[in-house]
Amino acid sequence: MGSSNCSVCGDGLISGSMIEEKDICMDCLLKEQKAISKLGIGDLSHVPGVFTLTNSQRRLLISVYKRHLLTMGTVQRHRFMPEHLKKVEWDPKDETVNVYFSNIWWHYTNDHEWY
Ligand SMILES: [Zn+2]
Repeated sequence: MGSSNCSVCGDGLISGSMIEEKDICMDCLLKEQKAISKLGIGDLSHVPGVFTLTNSQRRLLISVYKRHLLTMGTVQRHRFMPEHLKKVEWDPKDETVNVYFSNIWWHYTNDHEWY
């Protein structure tokens, strides 16, 4: 396990307030989840490729992206927030929306999964 302080607000994590393996207190986790659930395509308008996607591809992107972020721990998630998104593009061969970060990229599928 990591530190015994919340990685967002720095509060000490008392027993029961810590989410396992996430190093975040319940208050900050709820705040983060709320912020993520509010993400929309407007938050990705700076990302090259977003406006080459069709409307339904864009909806797929935002919906899978939010689910994907919510599965990450807090520390990891901060590396994959919209400001770190380098490029998105439709992959006609796999029929996925591909999302690119600095060192890694994923396929987002029509089944709302990623690989
Ligand atoms: Zn906190």
